[in-house]
Amino acid sequence: MAETETLENFVDGAWVRPEGRDLLDVPDPSSGALIARVPRSGASEVDAAVRAARRAFGSWREVPVVERARHVLALRALLEAHAEELARTVVRENGKTLDEARGSVRRGIEATEFAAAAPTTLQGSFLEDVSRGVDTTLLRQPVGVVAGITPFNFPVMIPLWMAPLALVCGNTFVLKPSERVPRSASLLARWVAEAGFPAGTFNLVHGDAAAVDALLTHPGVDAVSFVGSAPTARHIYTTAAAHGKRVQALAGAKNYLIVMPDAELARSVPAIVSSAFGQSGERCLAGSVVVAVEPGADRLVEQLSRAVSALVTGPANASGTEVGPVIRPEHRDRVLQWIRDGERLGARVVARGSVPPGSAGYYVPPVLFDGVRPEMPIAQEEIFGPVLSVIRVASLDEAIEVANRSRYGNAAAIFTRDGRSAREFTHRIEAGMLGVNIGVPAPAAFFPFVGWKGSFYGDLHATGRDAVEFYTRKKVVTTRWF
Ligand code: NAD
Repeated sequence: MAETETLENFVDGAWVRPEGRDLLDVPDPSSGALIARVPRSGASEVDAAVRAARRAFGSWREVPVVERARHVLALRALLEAHAEELARTVVRENGKTLDEARGSVRRGIEATEFAAAAPTTLQGSFLEDVSRGVDTTLLRQPVGVVAGITPFNFPVMIPLWMAPLALVCGNTFVLKPSERVPRSASLLARWVAEAGFPAGTFNLVHGDAAAVDALLTHPGVDAVSFVGSAPTARHIYTTAAAHGKRVQALAGAKNYLIVMPDAELARSVPAIVSSAFGQSGERCLAGSVVVAVEPGADRLVEQLSRAVSALVTGPANASGTEVGPVIRPEHRDRVLQWIRDGERLGARVVARGSVPPGSAGYYVPPVLFDGVRPEMPIAQEEIFGPVLSVIRVASLDEAIEVANRSRYGNAAAIFTRDGRSAREFTHRIEAGMLGVNIGVPAPAAFFPFVGWKGSFYGDLHATGRDAVEFYTRKKVVTTRWF
């Protein structure tokens, strides 16, 4: 891909350049250098993609599931062969480090592998003699045209949570990727086409909110899979549902890590630091608040401070970088404002890393706050940057109570050597993805990605069997033979 290429949409099996649309710059967050331009598609480009998907749906749904799964396997092989190219594209446009990018591509490949199991996962059920001589069969059929709307923080993985599974279930698909990381999506479209999916089954429309709103209200779209921030998720959920569509909307997060006095700090501290500062904190599973149960908080804060001060912030592609840039200058400024607000409201900065001097990239120094109170905005709001807050409490009960006050409920973790504490935590915490001595409790692709409370709008979650249910409609057939 040429360095400042203007990206195109992929509609009905062909690359097309939207006519007369504004272009948005796509900078490399590590340096600020321009790497691509992306069109802001509007209603007419969305309409063309949805129509292509509708046309393709009629014949695609008739393709036997084993053949659809073979296309998924071909895609999987292409992703594997180009994994390094994908990872390096993610590094360049998203700013995560190469290791982080490789890991995220791997997770995307795993989601594709799960999709290939469709001949098994799509199976229905049958019950003989529900009444004398009467049998009942449950079938799963595709929903129709699915729109996937994705965030900037996992440019390859999240589209791969959606598209392979939606397609293998017999749906056709329109992807509207984040306009901040569009090159990864263009590469994915190329491999999907090469994998032999027929024209119109997978379509890519670049753009921003205008393209999204056209998808949400288009009568040809049957279902919407969304991942992004909480305000957008609420808008997606209410608008798409009001237009009669099935919706799953994965939203923002604020994840609490409870550290018990008996935690093994030698291994817990690196896990906590990597959870909070990995990917510059731009992860929906990032630990954002440590709830330190006394006694022992002093020792924990001291070890965390040492680790945070030692973090190396720098360009995503430089060897030795542990914390890359954040996605945009506006986002950097917002995170810096959160840090200033935290200090103003009385939280204490006990460690502050450095940023590369003189760089035009979008860097935020890693910051550790102590003396944070549960009601402070830095303990409540999603910051999505390299900032970790410590709240000190007297007991596990109080720690769970503090964590459960959050309006979000994506992930939570406990660090302890005590099975009873871990059991209490998993039973009572109000979050969907839990870690016991794990800082980033990301479910494997064959389990659902189960945010709770304000971290999710909908009924059926992404990935795993929930996603198979989301991408299919059930039919129940009751049969009697005279
Ligand atoms: P975002 O909400 O800004 O954008 C997500 C998508 O929505 C993009 O494709 C964007 O073009 C579109 N969009 C943005 N504003 C819109 C509007 N007003 N109307 C219609 N469409 C709009 O999110 P982001 O900044 O790209 O991603 C980061 C957020 O995603 C964080 O809040 C993070 O927690 C969340 N996230 C959640 C999960 C999860 O599983 N719950 C996973 C990854 C990211």
